[in-house]
Amino acid sequence: MKEYDIAVIGGGPGGYVAAIRAAQAGACVCLVERDRVGGTCLNRGCIPTKALYSTAHLLQAIRSAAAHGIEVGEPRFDFGRAASRKDEVVSRLVGGVEQLLKGNGVEVFRGEASLEGPGRVRIRRPDLTGHIRVKKIILATGSLPTCPQTLPVDGKIVLTSDEILAIKELPASLLVIGGGYIGCEFASIYAAFGSRVTIVEQLPALLPRSDRQAVREVEKALRERDVAIHTETSVESLEVGDEGVTASLSGGQKVRAAKVLVAVGRRPNSEGFGFAENGVRLEKGAVVVDAGMRTSAEGVFAIGDVTGGIQLAHVASYQAQIAVANALGGEERADYRVVPSTIFTLPEIGEVGLTEEDCKSKGVAVDVGRFAYQASSKAVCAGETRGSIKIVAAAEDGRILGASIVGAEASTLVAEVAVAMQQQMTAAQLGRLIHSHPTLPEMIKEAAEDTVGEAVHKIGRRTKNRPEGDRK
Ligand SMILES: Cc1cc2nc3c(=O)[nH]c(=O)nc-3n(C[C@H](O)[C@H](O)[C@H](O)COP(=O)(O)OP(=O)(O)OC[C@H]3O[C@@H](n4cnc5c(N)ncnc54)[C@H](O)[C@@H]3O)c2cc1C
Repeated sequence: MKEYDIAVIGGGPGGYVAAIRAAQAGACVCLVERDRVGGTCLNRGCIPTKALYSTAHLLQAIRSAAAHGIEVGEPRFDFGRAASRKDEVVSRLVGGVEQLLKGNGVEVFRGEASLEGPGRVRIRRPDLTGHIRVKKIILATGSLPTCPQTLPVDGKIVLTSDEILAIKELPASLLVIGGGYIGCEFASIYAAFGSRVTIVEQLPALLPRSDRQAVREVEKALRERDVAIHTETSVESLEVGDEGVTASLSGGQKVRAAKVLVAVGRRPNSEGFGFAENGVRLEKGAVVVDAGMRTSAEGVFAIGDVTGGIQLAHVASYQAQIAVANALGGEERADYRVVPSTIFTLPEIGEVGLTEEDCKSKGVAVDVGRFAYQASSKAVCAGETRGSIKIVAAAEDGRILGASIVGAEASTLVAEVAVAMQQQMTAAQLGRLIHSHPTLPEMIKEAAEDTVGEAVHKIGRRTKNRPEGDRK
């Protein structure tokens, strides 16, 4: 029987990247996927949501066209066509991943894999069950939406992110339970499409891990679109009828909605595949790994959402690289100090490293640099003056500790700060880089300069009086 050097279980951004990386390194690799390759990210996560987000963004831009002298009236929006376009985007990208796997010589098995003892993986399909022999295994089985018993998901009216991405008609009203990034992204998108949206969040604020100022900007934009936001509130019961649902909130209010999105978190997908039975230690359902992505079972690695760490596609892909290197005899360790991420609300939030609030709670003294989009010439030209940039630098030595950006292209802008952080630059060094004019990244330069009181297009802050040689 053929023995593979590496078998990857799960074909999401963790698994398919691991398989390709291993094949590029010359290993004999197979990938087992029970559904379509691309995983949650490509089929039910990042990509379909961002296809819809692009539509919402365009709709918003068209609505503000009159400011440019372009009169289009209220655009006629066909949700069904937007949903079909989203499906086409997904299919096209899934096809791309299939081609990449094939082109790199990765053997793809369709079916559900489980561990069956050292070096043995079972692959089960409705029509047959087979086994393969492998030297090393990488678990990349991802995560699933959390569905609390009190919020009975029926897939028709009460939905998770999986089902809401499959609906073909725009709901007149949508109740979003959970004000994390998934809930807030859907709320922004559906509010822009014209649904009446309500968000209910148990905690005192939406997006609790993000910069407070950035979140306030998003909340303001949501309220301008008539989104009702209930924080420090829980949904006590849901009464589902033919026409929709009535939710009873902890404050005594009732909310009626055509559809409900339950977005209260995701849990590692680790049960039923023989992990624990074969020595893979789990903690609260997550596969426990060391910095080299090794599990407690010899020759078994795990990456991505199933490890219960930072649940982001690019983190899963990064871990794939580490796991493959180590499965092939290397000694690499994951480092999560610089992980940029984006919350695709309207406006979007781009963030990396620590927030100002994180630094305060850790007792780290910081210099904070701020710059507003309304002071950027490019933002004014584009009519995108909403938002701000904040860079947080260590007061001790000026090293950049983090950035939070809310506004147009925040997702792109944050990448520059991530590179600067990776290079351990100080904010003053970042501020001295030449930036092309007129562009949005000039705001990064200004915010970086502002940490030492030297932003040019900003008044009201005195330059720190430091001698030239003393500048960080
Ligand atoms: C609505 C939504 C929006 C998101 N947006 C973003 C975003 O904008 N940016 C971002 O970075 N992240 C985003 N995420 C998170 C991102 O999708 C995940 O972090 C990422 O997909 C995790 O990758 P993974 O490879 O660990 O697992 P997954 O992508 O979940 O892939 C796991 C794969 O394993 C397969 N599988 C599971 N068990 C078995 C088995 N026993 N045998 C065979 N196959 C199996 C599954 O079918 C699946 O294809 C979003 C998530 C959601 C839900």
